[in-house]
Amino acid sequence: MNQILMNISDASFSDLLDKVSSGAELDREEWRMLLDRPDESPDQYLRARATEVARQHFGNGIYLRGLIEITSWCRNNCYYCGLRRSNRFASRYRLTTEDILSCCREGAGLGLNTFVLQGGEDDGQDDNWIENTIRAIRAEIPDQAITLSVGERSEDAYRRFREAGADRYLLRHETRNDAHYAQLHPAEMSASHRRACLRTLKALNFQTGAGMMIGTPGQTTDCLLDDIAFLEELRPQMIGIGPFIPAAHTPFAHRQAGSIPLTLRLVALMRLRFPHALIPSTTALATLNGGGRAAGILSGANVVMPNLSPLAVRGQYSIYDHKACQGGESATGLRLLEQELNQIGSRIVYGRGDYST
Ligand code: SAH
Repeated sequence: MNQILMNISDASFSDLLDKVSSGAELDREEWRMLLDRPDESPDQYLRARATEVARQHFGNGIYLRGLIEITSWCRNNCYYCGLRRSNRFASRYRLTTEDILSCCREGAGLGLNTFVLQGGEDDGQDDNWIENTIRAIRAEIPDQAITLSVGERSEDAYRRFREAGADRYLLRHETRNDAHYAQLHPAEMSASHRRACLRTLKALNFQTGAGMMIGTPGQTTDCLLDDIAFLEELRPQMIGIGPFIPAAHTPFAHRQAGSIPLTLRLVALMRLRFPHALIPSTTALATLNGGGRAAGILSGANVVMPNLSPLAVRGQYSIYDHKACQGGESATGLRLLEQELNQIGSRIVYGRGDYST
């Protein structure tokens, strides 16, 4: 009897995956059936399908993005983030334009063609400073892609960044559910403002990345269903999905980390839903589990972000505890990364990796 029930549910599971893969819209209850499965056994099948779809579109190539963590100062106070302004134990640093240029030079020397400048919302790196820094990078390395991940700014600032030569912008929406957003952020921050920023970025023709953490306190299946609906509406070119990891000296310091299997399930489902999207195998996945990066790729991810931050500050960008930033995670570990990828039948692609359909 159980066997029969199992087979029936597997059949409907694979029918639903066929439906997602065909590009047809699933209704909320169908998505719920895909997300709300206590049994992980069919996930092997889901991940294999997602990997196959990634390989149909990208071959076995994985794009690299050199991550430069430009400041650990932040004016915001997100409850989950170790860099929140109230964390007086966070160690703070701020790179200069010249520091960033030398990271880019090092990365370009290693063959990287995309740089991601990520940081807190730091008054010491205001809109003018960012604009000038983009121009300085552009002047030296005209061909590489410049990606920003520096939070919520005005439309005017985003336009100036774009005109200065930035190509892409990562701004995870974090959670589409407004009540859940309010559980993760103080009242001065708003989910709708963050979404408005994402729409502005898209309208300005940035290749835009949205995304969410998995397993943040208070997250329910319905929150994830709202996230999927939002991604379907926004259609970002990049989708970042990583597990929540507790950060010391934050209100969530003693909460549980997000589930790796659920994170991989979301990565795989988003690969099936958005076959052309650029989906990173996130540092958070690699942090929680030694095989996390490979598992992300074997669930349909096609991007990894080796850390190019100067060694002197490496480890101080503690958005969560024990963040992976060395070994295969550092640019000097590119060869190790290549080996790790080869073991799962993938390889590094050194192109810019722009979004294309
Ligand atoms: N200030 C920028 C960059 C934030 S750090 C911005 O607002 O976009 C990049 C991402 O790290 C965040 O968007 C968030 O999704 C993730 N992050 C922050 N704290 C985290 C934690 N404790 N666990 C897992 N991911 C976290």
